[in-house]
Amino acid sequence: MNLKLKQYIDGQWVDAISGKTRDIINPYNQEVIATVPEGDESETKKAIAAARTAFDNGEWSATPATERGAIVRKIAELIERDKEELAELESLDTGKTVEESRGDMDDIAGVFRYYGEIADKDGGELIDSPIPNSVSKVVREPVGVCGQITPWNYPLLQASWKLAPALATGNTLIMKPSEITPLTTIKVFELMEEAGVPAGVVNLVLGSGSTVGAELSTSEDVDLISFTGGIATGKKIMQAASSNVKKLALELGGKNPNVIFADADFDLAVDQALNGVFFHAGQICSAGTRVIVEESIHDDFVKALVERVKKFKLGSGFDEDTQMGPLISAEHLEKVEKYVQAGIEEGAVVEVGGSRPEDPELQKGFFFLPTIFSGCTTDMTVVQEEGFGPVITVEKFSTEEEAVKLANDSIYGLAGGVFTNDIVKAERCAAKMRMGTVWINEFNLYFPHAPWGGFKQSGIGRELGKLGIEEYTETKHIFQNL
Ligand code: NAD
Repeated sequence: MNLKLKQYIDGQWVDAISGKTRDIINPYNQEVIATVPEGDESETKKAIAAARTAFDNGEWSATPATERGAIVRKIAELIERDKEELAELESLDTGKTVEESRGDMDDIAGVFRYYGEIADKDGGELIDSPIPNSVSKVVREPVGVCGQITPWNYPLLQASWKLAPALATGNTLIMKPSEITPLTTIKVFELMEEAGVPAGVVNLVLGSGSTVGAELSTSEDVDLISFTGGIATGKKIMQAASSNVKKLALELGGKNPNVIFADADFDLAVDQALNGVFFHAGQICSAGTRVIVEESIHDDFVKALVERVKKFKLGSGFDEDTQMGPLISAEHLEKVEKYVQAGIEEGAVVEVGGSRPEDPELQKGFFFLPTIFSGCTTDMTVVQEEGFGPVITVEKFSTEEEAVKLANDSIYGLAGGVFTNDIVKAERCAAKMRMGTVWINEFNLYFPHAPWGGFKQSGIGRELGKLGIEEYTETKHIFQNL
């Protein structure tokens, strides 16, 4: 299989202006699965101009919200119709299991449906006016031309969190997916065209961050950048976006704590501690990589984690019994390997894993063994830095206060978990944990109406929920003397 795909600019499917292409690799076996155009600044400028014209002519922003909502809901239906094809494509491109990708597709359709349904629910509000015989109203309007930049780990899920609210609120946009995983995003642009989104409203430019991404971030014709990715890139984008004081939404990394008290449901906590990390081989911003366990159950908990991990089945995402696929790329595999090496050098104890697998079948792809470190302390690189691989660090605590202190000891503040059967204690911890989401007796649960985003260096703004609408709208006060 070698798909030949294109970019989508101003309603046309086009190759790169430079004629350059990029091969897209299956991380399970390194086979080329698709060839896509490698766009650069030239087509990014064209796409921005198309989005600008489409916004300024008002064809989409002035379309009644009810009609925009119907088109966004139609996209949800088309995703459901093509779910199997999309799920298989996502798994080929990322290595994750097809079962997981099917779950992603359900979530993605749910996000389009949610924003399609609420598109016409905010008609603004009348506020009290201090002047007799006057009317004061507050309305929300689209921001304008949006640049949207997504990462490789959940390619279409992250794209849907940006596309659906931007479209529902009447913006126009240029999306730049990760250069290594663009396949399902390309497919959804086909579905948006089929659903009736007018030409110029949605544009897709493929290429690298330093060309396409940088052009979007600096362009004075782009009004907003919504970015999901790493902190280092987020900082560059903040600087670039200052050129015209763009609105910014940043969903950055996480180094998420998972606090396990001795009175928790032990089996549930073990299940969720594993699910919280080894889902998509730890390549998830909300991975609960810092497992923080109460001293009295620490040894039993580590033992239970290790026993389960030893039985983990690694392999092709297309095999039904595979529990964990490969990492995304050779470069990322090397990065994770160095990260684990740093943990070993700093004194963390490898309980299981710690290396690439020996199985020759798995050496065709970018596999790394699920790894558990015990004996971890907050000063270690593996406890402080986001590794974005299948690695759990285990720390011990003896008091609730210490547990919260350890949980908060991070530059990140994306998400965290608390496992206990004492709901009052759980609520107390949740109130003190400095992060955008706290799960109690659960980990890694997302749904369209719950806002998602980070405290501290995990980002700025929120996606999903009603707050996702606020990211894509400006608030206007109109005062009128009668
Ligand atoms: P990355 O920052 O390397 O790349 C993300 C995107 O930014 C890619 O499309 C890339 O091409 C682009 N980019 C790179 N340099 C750029 C530049 N100078 N200007 C503009 N765009 C540029 O991140 P990644 O490796 O693709 O993804 C992993 C990171 O994403 C992790 O840190 C992870 O935690 C984070 N992430 C966060 C969330 C969240 O919801 N908070 C979700 C998923 C992933």
